[in-house]
Amino acid sequence: MSLDDDQLLRYSRHILLDEIGIEGQEKICAGRALILGAGGLGSPAALYLASAGVGSITLVDDDTVDLTNLQRQIAHTEARLGQLKVESAREAMRQINPHIDVHVVPRRADAELLDALVASADVALDCSDNFATRHALNRACVLHGVPLVSGAAIRFAGQVSVFDTRADAAGQRGPCYACLFPPDAPVEEVRCATMGVLAPLVGLVGSLQAAEALKILSQTGKTLGGKLLLIDALDTDFQTINLLRNPHCPVCGHLPPA
Ligand SMILES: [Zn+2]
Repeated sequence: MSLDDDQLLRYSRHILLDEIGIEGQEKICAGRALILGAGGLGSPAALYLASAGVGSITLVDDDTVDLTNLQRQIAHTEARLGQLKVESAREAMRQINPHIDVHVVPRRADAELLDALVASADVALDCSDNFATRHALNRACVLHGVPLVSGAAIRFAGQVSVFDTRADAAGQRGPCYACLFPPDAPVEEVRCATMGVLAPLVGLVGSLQAAEALKILSQTGKTLGGKLLLIDALDTDFQTINLLRNPHCPVCGHLPPA
């Protein structure tokens, strides 16, 4: 797709970046992103992908806006308390950029739904808050070869990674979410609702997810594929650790090379 005059102006600060340019912005405008969760991580991710001009954004969340959400879920407002989060977030996205398509799915994500949604996405963002959903999204992303931008935040601790199992130019594939967190391992669900979370930490993580998604769509830079970024917001420390594929991973182990 080629950009019209309004788009050239609106996205001029992206176009000025040599690493993105007109070509990269055209890819962003033609891009299709799936965002799972319209809460703390999904809010900044959705707002930035909308402002950056991602042509088609699908938002999935079955929850409604509650007063306790407003401390950190910046797509929502006091005036929209009680509304579906996907509707509230769509309103916020439209106010910034009415020229993109926002599809809302006010349903709890299950495997069947995710399979259909991931099949028509170029990138998926995991902004959910539970392991069952994370694993279901990961399975669909591995199946359809769609890069997954994963984020998590609790208390003062944040994590961001990209799980991209597509073969690169050298034939190498990155690990998937299940290589790192085996689906059958016992997990203790921790949620912001019970544990608390520092408000801007979810903004940091969600914004990083948006940045990774934009790089994937515009095919520029180096992503967090094969790496896990750990954020300690209490002592302000950022660490990146390398991740390896698990050749026996039940989700991606069948993909060559082992
Ligand atoms: Zn795997």
